Amino acid sequence: MIEPIAILGGTFDPVHIGHLRVALEASEALDAPVRLMPAHVPPHRSAPVANPAQRVAMLRASLAGQDHLQLDTRELDRREPSYTVDTLRQMRGEFGAERSLILLLGADAFAGLTTWHEWRALFDLAHIAVMTRPGHDTRLPAELATEIASRRTRSATDLHTSPCGKLFDLPVTPLEISASVVRALLAAGRDPRWLVPDALLADPGLLAPYRS
Ligand code: ATP
Repeated sequence: MIEPIAILGGTFDPVHIGHLRVALEASEALDAPVRLMPAHVPPHRSAPVANPAQRVAMLRASLAGQDHLQLDTRELDRREPSYTVDTLRQMRGEFGAERSLILLLGADAFAGLTTWHEWRALFDLAHIAVMTRPGHDTRLPAELATEIASRRTRSATDLHTSPCGKLFDLPVTPLEISASVVRALLAAGRDPRWLVPDALLADPGLLAPYRS
């Protein structure tokens, strides 16, 4: 059996230990490497403070020296914002029809899935693992609840033995850290230690885009 590939997309402006912790927990629970995939931000959203090369440099430094969390720059390489469905189609082309792909989504993002471009097609391309916080229940729109009713599985092994189409709940340890808070601390001249990986502090250039 070939191991699945899990994908955690985001802005990573900057990467912080909330991202890294959920990526690690997902990797362990799914027994699969997780690719952190920085996104181009569409023009109608507020632009990241750090440019793509800076965000990649921060991710590279943070992920150095371990194998289960990897960097995948394919969305930035395309030079314009991409729909997730197109990214997954590209990965299908690269990894073949049989390889299991697992899209990691926070429960909030998942609840909004029906607004995504070609959202139903996502299940033809990948499994979805929804990162849930113990004790928090997110209400789903009826259309989405119907779509996933027959897709739910409680077994991570099911995500290894088929390439796509299942829905898996993945409880993760909640860490109340956001990139916005890290940016605000840095802009105020404060120390983000222990909210971001040490590698970002080791090189003073990496967090420079956020310091005023
Ligand atoms: P911002 O504060 O700029 O909106 P963010 O910290 O939410 O950024 P993103 O790059 O947008 O970071 O997040 C990428 C992915 O990581 C998303 O799926 C998001 O839900 C998840 N994520 C971010 N922070 C956490 C956290 N503290 N715990 C769990 N998941 C997180």
